[in-house]
Amino acid sequence: MTAAKPSWPPSPATPPHGVLLIGAGGLGCAAALALTQAGVSRITLADPDSVALSNLHRQMLYRTADVGAGKVDQAARRLAENTPGLRVDKVCARLDTPEAIGQQARDHAVTLDASDNFTTRFAANDAALRFGFPLVHGAATGFAGQLMTIDPGRSACLRCLFTAPPAAEGPTCQNEGVLGPLVGEVGWLMAMEAVKLLAPIGQPLWNRLLTIHALTGKRRAVPLRPDPRCRCHPQPGTVTP
Ligand SMILES: [Zn+2]
Repeated sequence: MTAAKPSWPPSPATPPHGVLLIGAGGLGCAAALALTQAGVSRITLADPDSVALSNLHRQMLYRTADVGAGKVDQAARRLAENTPGLRVDKVCARLDTPEAIGQQARDHAVTLDASDNFTTRFAANDAALRFGFPLVHGAATGFAGQLMTIDPGRSACLRCLFTAPPAAEGPTCQNEGVLGPLVGEVGWLMAMEAVKLLAPIGQPLWNRLLTIHALTGKRRAVPLRPDPRCRCHPQPGTVTP
């Protein structure tokens, strides 16, 4: 599908700033907390769900008393308590189309995909390609986690790894479980990617998929290249080293 690529940033008068977090679950809680501790002054949380008792072990911003309340409301309250002056915007909605994600992302400097399903992950990936914003993808299930950073037009994207979302959702935190410490680690590293992009400093995980195995302690930075058949493939000579 070919679509017009809107300008990025939207306007010099209103430069995007802050971080959009898609998902306020385990990854999103850890990433949001780490972002505030790193000095990020504006965060937008997007999640339609309520706090559930079965998820508390991996969602570090919530308490037992929060069960049944909206995740974005409780997360925003807790982050604001910890960090005076922090601006937290709330989007109590499921962002699972490129259009919906692009609408929110274009007002932010970096977007983190901390969702828990392939539909949202691919929608975030496609929104980043279409609207041209930097995206950090992270996921964790069972004992394995992974993350990568996408620089549209210059680095490999999620579709270079998986052409399309799988027919079935596959292992998820709901049906396979996940370790809280692993979720925390991946969320923390996603925040680090955002800090590197915002500063900018260091080497974001462009063209690399970082895989983490909780039981062995092994980490691998798997080299990636933009797939010439993928919609993300850039012009020759513009690939990030
Ligand atoms: Zn791609």
